[in-house]
Amino acid sequence: MQFSEIPGLEELKKQLISAHQRGKVAHAQLFAGRPGTAALPMALAYASYLMCENKAEDSCGACANCVRVKKLIHPDIHLHFPKVSAAENKYEKVLAEALPRFRQFVTESPFGDMETWTRKYGQENKNLLISRQDSRQMLKNVSMRSVEGGYKILLIWVPELMNSSSANAILKILEEPPEKTLYLLVSYNYDSLLATITSRTQLVNVPPNNIEEIQKYLEANGVDPSQAAQAAKLSEGKLGMALHVVEVGESQEYEDFQQWMLECWNRNLTGLVHRSEDFSKSGKASQKTSLNFAISLIRNAVVHASGQHPPTQNEAETSFVGKFADKLGLHKLEKIYTLNNEALIHLERNSNPRITHLNLSLEITRMLNG
Ligand SMILES: [Zn+2]
Repeated sequence: MQFSEIPGLEELKKQLISAHQRGKVAHAQLFAGRPGTAALPMALAYASYLMCENKAEDSCGACANCVRVKKLIHPDIHLHFPKVSAAENKYEKVLAEALPRFRQFVTESPFGDMETWTRKYGQENKNLLISRQDSRQMLKNVSMRSVEGGYKILLIWVPELMNSSSANAILKILEEPPEKTLYLLVSYNYDSLLATITSRTQLVNVPPNNIEEIQKYLEANGVDPSQAAQAAKLSEGKLGMALHVVEVGESQEYEDFQQWMLECWNRNLTGLVHRSEDFSKSGKASQKTSLNFAISLIRNAVVHASGQHPPTQNEAETSFVGKFADKLGLHKLEKIYTLNNEALIHLERNSNPRITHLNLSLEITRMLNG
């Protein structure tokens, strides 16, 4: 990963590069952003930059070090990430199985989050964590000499999934690392990190992108312009979410929304219960995307019902929004809009997705049939 492969965030890239140029690389840095942001790509681009043999304003992307960092096989970069817990004598086996999958996940989905990793790892029903054995492995990595004589980097992905005993085990190395040893932590939930960790690391805040940056990035990667615009609009500035929308396809979201409203309209309780179960299984990124999509459609219907032209993307959507608006009227649409927004806020606060979605469906059902 090079800095140039990450859209926008130029200020942050400059800061990281300049810290190196001034010889001020902090030995423990915490890259913190929301899921779907460039927190991990930024840490990887930084690692690549530090290791590169021909760096200028970015890593060269072509030297032996860059190539090995890109494949995540550089002998001086140690990867630590949540995995299934194992008895001590099984740890090597678990690690050997998880590592290639983790490399593949990062290569294919650097903007992915824990949901994406859990899926790619094939461990949807397990609680993944950075265990006591992982922290022992970290201590081992730190005590080893750098293979190539340059930096030795420990990349710790999602340190919030480190329990307190494994976190405590590494406090000392975080505080007093051997020379040329760097810790790059990548977190999606800064607030849940132990203060003992945050106080020993320098915060590198990775903000969301702006909508234009995301739209441009998608178009540059071959996404059709109208789909790129729609996905960017739904993404909340998180490239991971935008890529998810593109992958799932807008048309499916759109048909799904129609089906959902019909179930509410027809008081199809069995259908709604199933729907909320599917919703809860779909993972947080999907849940938010689907609610954001609903909110954007309903917003357009509200605009239509108030006698203006909504900024819809295609003919089918324009026609649906028109009919939906005419049938419900402004008052009901506004209420449904509010209910969806409230559900989204509840989800952000980690409410139970199944109950949140079912409550939302039932309220809409009442509204439509009231
Ligand atoms: Zn290079």
